[in-house]
Amino acid sequence: MGEIRIQNVWKYFGKAKVPALKDVTLTIQDREFMVLLGPSGCGKTTLLRCIAGLEYPERGRIFIGGRDVTDEPPRKRTIAMVFQSYAVFPHLTVFENIAFGLRMQKRPNEEVKQRVIKAADLMRIGAYLERYPAQLSGGQRQRVAVARGLVMEPQVLLMDEPLSNLDALLRLQARAELKRLLQEVQTTTVYVTHDQIEALSMGDRIAVMENGAIIQADIPSQVYEHPSSHFVGGFIGTPPMNFMRGTISRTNGTAALAVGNQFIHAALPANAPAGQELLMGIRAENIEASLQPVPDAIPGQVLVVEPLGSHLLLTVEVGETPLKVQTRVDFAVQPNQTVYLRLDPKQLRWFDPETGLRYEPEPSPL
Ligand code: ATP
Repeated sequence: MGEIRIQNVWKYFGKAKVPALKDVTLTIQDREFMVLLGPSGCGKTTLLRCIAGLEYPERGRIFIGGRDVTDEPPRKRTIAMVFQSYAVFPHLTVFENIAFGLRMQKRPNEEVKQRVIKAADLMRIGAYLERYPAQLSGGQRQRVAVARGLVMEPQVLLMDEPLSNLDALLRLQARAELKRLLQEVQTTTVYVTHDQIEALSMGDRIAVMENGAIIQADIPSQVYEHPSSHFVGGFIGTPPMNFMRGTISRTNGTAALAVGNQFIHAALPANAPAGQELLMGIRAENIEASLQPVPDAIPGQVLVVEPLGSHLLLTVEVGETPLKVQTRVDFAVQPNQTVYLRLDPKQLRWFDPETGLRYEPEPSPL
């Protein structure tokens, strides 16, 4: 069983005792692929290093496979790590690179051979065992590094930005390849990245981190469609979620969000009182633009038109807020033109403008 349970972990660095991890609690299921995602400095690597035993948390406990490993050194934990600089040894063949850990353990030759071949086949590099790393592509070298970890048959595979040294195209290929290969391996994997596309495409679940804390841990579609905060909505997605700040207005039985001098008649959160300030979030693909006025649409002025191959991305100013709007590629529009925007009522998300957290209105009195 390779379940990882992280319980109320705190980690401080330096004399100032600045917390790099703040009360992190997370359970990663056996064989799950968990991505730790967040901006630079949010604590992803520190959390990974705590799981590996390369850092010791000041408070909290870490369990691997049901065993409390908090006080155990890395070698006692059945883990393998693949780092950003997946340094393979240039003077050793692929075979000997993969065999390295087993040689250190003085395993018999026959066992080494069998296990290396198995790991290399799994990573589809079985044909290159006699080559040296310089004779491989970046993606293949990367797979040697993964095979070197897997050959140790770890309960848990920890990966810290393993694709970040690859150029954009190779990274795209390596991402899909690695995902497919790791599905076959079925080892519990914790994967650190600051690349939200990588996180969305690879993870069974994503744990989004901000300032040392996990602020949302969920399946990718849920993180994308129902971000727990303004920060998550703004961090995930290309383009990020749009936000508009307004005030709830309720007059003559109709409710609207007043943004500047515009009234957006949309499905507001039930029970939100009049006068309540709210941050509304909506993604570019959930706004429909028309050239003619349509019921419930708000007018806006097109600032920029970006053709992106499969679609257009418009920047439309509504009041003073620029909104990103996705349209069909044949939507005939020019900058400075007025367009009418319908916001899909089911896709509106609401946040507290002060805390940035999802807005949860008080339940209505019975
Ligand atoms: P990146 O994506 O840039 O690698 P990260 O999310 O992995 O960032 P960490 O490397 O975990 O972030 O760092 C979290 C915080 O802890 C940062 O503010 C960092 O400066 C600090 N930190 C990390 N390691 C140390 C250390 N050894 N000594 C002091 N501070 C550290």
